Amino acid sequence: MSFENLALHPSILHALQEAGYTEPTPIQAQAIPEVMAGHDLLASAQTGTGKTAAFTLPALNLLATPHPSKSRGPRILVLVPTRELAQQVNDAARKYGKFLRARTVSIVGGMPYPLQNKLLSQPLDILVATPGRLLDHMERGRIDLARLQMLVLDEADRMLDMGFMPDIERITAALPGDRQTLLFSATLEGNIARIAAQILRNPKTIQIASQQAKHENIEQRLHFVDDMSHKNKLLEHLLIAPEVNQAIVFTSTKRHADLLAEDLHAAGHKVAALHGDMTQGARNRTLTKLRHGDINVLVATDVAARGIDVAGISHVINYDLPKFAEDYVHRIGRTGRAGKRGIAVSFASHAERFQLRKIEQFTGQRLEAAVIAGLEPQKRIQQPKPHKFGDSGKPRNSGHPGNKGGGYKGAGNRQPGQGYGGQKRQDGEKSFSKRSGRSFA
Ligand code: AMP
Repeated sequence: MSFENLALHPSILHALQEAGYTEPTPIQAQAIPEVMAGHDLLASAQTGTGKTAAFTLPALNLLATPHPSKSRGPRILVLVPTRELAQQVNDAARKYGKFLRARTVSIVGGMPYPLQNKLLSQPLDILVATPGRLLDHMERGRIDLARLQMLVLDEADRMLDMGFMPDIERITAALPGDRQTLLFSATLEGNIARIAAQILRNPKTIQIASQQAKHENIEQRLHFVDDMSHKNKLLEHLLIAPEVNQAIVFTSTKRHADLLAEDLHAAGHKVAALHGDMTQGARNRTLTKLRHGDINVLVATDVAARGIDVAGISHVINYDLPKFAEDYVHRIGRTGRAGKRGIAVSFASHAERFQLRKIEQFTGQRLEAAVIAGLEPQKRIQQPKPHKFGDSGKPRNSGHPGNKGGGYKGAGNRQPGQGYGGQKRQDGEKSFSKRSGRSFA
């Protein structure tokens, strides 16, 4: 199938041609006709499948027909969980809407209000927003939503996890009842189904691929680790390998992301941290550096890294396992972008076997443990088996690094002043080797 078969407006086809897209991805081929026919949509699709264009293209197609109303408010509203994703959707709408002259504005938390007030006072077509800040502006009467025709909830599962649902309910209650609504989520189960039933009207449902079929271009590896020092040795080994172009290293806390980035910097890596405590400006600058290849290693937390679309990322390293199994899928999806191959490596301690099991259940794929000669774990490790929790057969409360289930202490447990090797951190002690008792050289 080609984009021409989808009856998109010629100026959108022109932009797609310029972007070098030759044919729609499966989610685009299935979603675009349903949306253009006016249906509500419930779609499960991961990032990397082309889901952004799957809603942006039919939304832009709607804009190709002028609206009769004199109102200046947005005709399309896209709600997203994070600033980074807002930026990505904004960029996509501008790219595909280039020849339509669609006016797109992004309104996210952490940005100055006066600038946003100014942006919102101008005529606009597409508004991309995080729910909290949008609601703020709505309550201040800054947005005219009278001519809104389409609402898109992007990464709805994530918005749910982040506690945005009460805000979303208040936002949807204030929108015109005859709008079209599209909901995209990594999963359609659990609370998402409930919310979909509440917000969507007779939606068409699209499930683009089973969990198992996803990420076929990403090689997933697992290394069992004894302790923090072992993790650091493995990390070094992985990062200096010639096949690493760019890597994202995931930690469980913001503070740990900063500290690990500092250590890697001291060890000579071109590295930066990315997390939610940074200002929007600092986050944007870091992502620009990553895109331009000025940094090779990004140490990030889950929320901040969601939506990052940088083709050069060859490796994702789960230094700490994610708290939620869904986040594992989001993390590894940062590599293997734009049809490339990627490698995702996870570190797990003996105490985290239950958490590994949850990830395997979610992805439907078994993570086979690998070893690196000279860096084998010294502790005896048993891979988790189905329906079995631990050696004792009893459930263990050690599912993620925040728990105190075993001998290993996750990075998330580190107390202020405590180094990676578990020793007391000395002021001014900058080198990774001193903290972990080993060398990067
Ligand atoms: P997304 O799943 O929306 O994050 O998109 C993943 C990547 O695929 C982005 O870099 C898009 O620019 C790219 N992309 C989206 N649609 C197509 C297409 N039809 N052909 C080629 N690349 C695409």
